[in-house]
Amino acid sequence: TPATTHPTTAASEALFERARAVTPGGVNSPVRAFTAVGGTPRFITSASGAWLSDADGNDYVDLICSWGPMLLGHAHPEVQAAVADAVARGTSYGTPTRPEVELAEEIVSRTPVERVRFVSSGTEATMSAIRLARGATGRDLVVKFAGCYHGHVDPLLAEAGSGVATLAVPGTSGVPASSAAETLVLPYNDRAAVQAAFDAHGPRIACLITEATPGNMGIVPPEPGFNAFLAETCRNHGALFISDEVMTGFRATAQGGWGLDGAVEGWVPDLMTFGKVMGGGFPAAAFGGRSDLMAHLAPEGRVYQAGTLSGNPVATTAGLATLRLATDEVYAHLDATARTIREAASEALTAASVPHTVQTAGSMFSVFFSGEPVRDFAGASQQDTTAYAAFFHAMLDQGVYLPPSAYESWFVSAAHDERAVTTVLDALPAAARAAATA
Ligand code: PMP
Repeated sequence: TPATTHPTTAASEALFERARAVTPGGVNSPVRAFTAVGGTPRFITSASGAWLSDADGNDYVDLICSWGPMLLGHAHPEVQAAVADAVARGTSYGTPTRPEVELAEEIVSRTPVERVRFVSSGTEATMSAIRLARGATGRDLVVKFAGCYHGHVDPLLAEAGSGVATLAVPGTSGVPASSAAETLVLPYNDRAAVQAAFDAHGPRIACLITEATPGNMGIVPPEPGFNAFLAETCRNHGALFISDEVMTGFRATAQGGWGLDGAVEGWVPDLMTFGKVMGGGFPAAAFGGRSDLMAHLAPEGRVYQAGTLSGNPVATTAGLATLRLATDEVYAHLDATARTIREAASEALTAASVPHTVQTAGSMFSVFFSGEPVRDFAGASQQDTTAYAAFFHAMLDQGVYLPPSAYESWFVSAAHDERAVTTVLDALPAAARAAATA
């Protein structure tokens, strides 16, 4: 049987052409452009629950969920109502507001951080956390891992995952050599490399930043005890341990990525960063940590950090509504849905003899088009990206919107019900056959 019929995409194509004339690549964030998989990105006009609708009237089951934020699904009625209510009272005051306090309290209650500061994007969160770490330690060097993405912050773009990996650029032009020189990039899950870096440069290292469980080179979980080892190594050298939970926070588990190992092994990051889910689909992010460290921030301390729209009342209202609705039942549903989809994907790929490896972090997972377990970025780079592109397009043609890159996590939501999951499962066999013949 032929894999699929191609849906009409004339309206998206016309919009993409106009977009390219006025915006580089036609997109406002590179991975949206379909560079790695080819073809025309769909211009989405509305979304509801698990579904996206495009400019040509096609519907798709959404397995991107806005790259993480839409934990409850799109246009959740209670979140929409809270947002509408907030908007009716004005959209930005430039003063402190109640929802900021309540969202901060909610984050503090769910995670090991004692105080938080709100910003507007994950990039700002990691940028500010690093400045705070440098200010608090009086040191300059930053340690990161190849394949971990922490936003487009100068010193953190070296060998970053996500869109940087998708475009196969080792770094990026525009980052000063002096900035890159302050970053040590190590292979993930490699204790010896971490030990060697701290032995050589320990007294100059301000912080080590890592994704709690990396999701930007596909899902590459820390080997058991790896994060605990990082926390201890940092402590031994007077450096700060920053766990970036922009993607995993309130998503991988109710306690984020930390819930998978830190809560069990009993270590606590010095600083953490959050974004995505905590903004409920609006631009909101945060960094936080120990109270004494956060005291270095202005106006209490001498590390300056600020933002016109930081803690915006509409964004914090959306985030607060989202977190309050994200109950244990929601996380149980996400886990079960993710398991159903990843098992079916693996079954379909096995039936079509496509080498693959499925890796998981709580309700997040990704499918590597490579037969070997992936423990670092070098392993993730072994994938057959041509097979992924064929798989991706066959899924899209059958009404399932996967991330347009093999280096990304797949995301589900509380709204992924039986109809949505069935649509995904029904599409998998033909997509697996398309991958096999790519
Ligand atoms: N850190 C991690 C772990 C991320 O996944 C991302 C975004 N995917 C960022 C930071 C940057 O967040 P933003 O795109 O909101 O700037």
